[in-house]
Amino acid sequence: SGAEPAAGGCAPSSPRRRLTVLSGPSGVGKSTVVTEIRRSHPEVWLSVSVTTRPPRPGEKHGVQYFFVDDAGFDRLVADGELLEWAEFAGNRYGTPRAPVAEKLAAGVPVLLEIDLQGARQVRRAMPDALLVFLAPPSWDELVRRLVGRGTEPPEVIERRLEAARVELAAEKEFDVTLVNTSVQDVCRELLALMVDQTSD
Ligand code: 5GP
Repeated sequence: SGAEPAAGGCAPSSPRRRLTVLSGPSGVGKSTVVTEIRRSHPEVWLSVSVTTRPPRPGEKHGVQYFFVDDAGFDRLVADGELLEWAEFAGNRYGTPRAPVAEKLAAGVPVLLEIDLQGARQVRRAMPDALLVFLAPPSWDELVRRLVGRGTEPPEVIERRLEAARVELAAEKEFDVTLVNTSVQDVCRELLALMVDQTSD
C-alpha cells in the first residue's frame, strides 16, 4: 500500500479526462443512479453540490448537498469558488471547484450530477470532460416519475416539466446518451464509460 502512481506519470490520458458529467431532465433518475454508484463503487468520487434548495426528508448536509442560504451562495459565486452554477426551478445549485480539482489532480475519477446549464459550463471550462445524457424511456414515463415522486407541490412539478422539455432537446450536445431503463444497466454502462476514458 502507499504505492500510488505519481501524478502525471505514465498514464497516457490527461487526468482531466477523468471528469464525467451526468445530466438529463429532472425526474429521469439521475440521483438514483448516483446513489447506486456511491453504494457500489466508492472508488468514484461524487462531487457534492451547494444548493439554496431546502433539504428533502432524509437529505443530509454534506451528503446529497451542502445546503446554504442565498447570502452564502452569493459569497461562493463572488469568491469564484464554484466551477459552475445554475438556477434551476427557483433555486441555485453549484459545484465547489477546489475538491474537484484536488481529486482530478490525484487521478481519482470524478462524477458530477448537474443540470444542463451546468453541463454546458463544464464543457466550456473543461473541453475534455465526458458529457453523459441520461434519457427517460419515454416522455410519459418521465411525467409519471416526476408526479409520482410526491416530494414537490404541483407548481414546482410544472416548472420541472417545463425544464425537462427544454433539457430533452439538448441531448445532441452530449457525447453519449444512456436510456434509463434500469438503474443497474445505467450504472454498468456509465462505469464502463468512465473506465474507458481513463485507460485509452
Ligand atoms: P434536485 O433539486 O432535484 O436535487 O436537483 C435539481 C436539478 O439540479 C437536477 O437536475 C440536478 O442535476 C441539478 N443540480 C444538482 N447539483 C447541481 C450543481 O451543482 N450544478 C448544476 N448546474 N446543477 C445541479
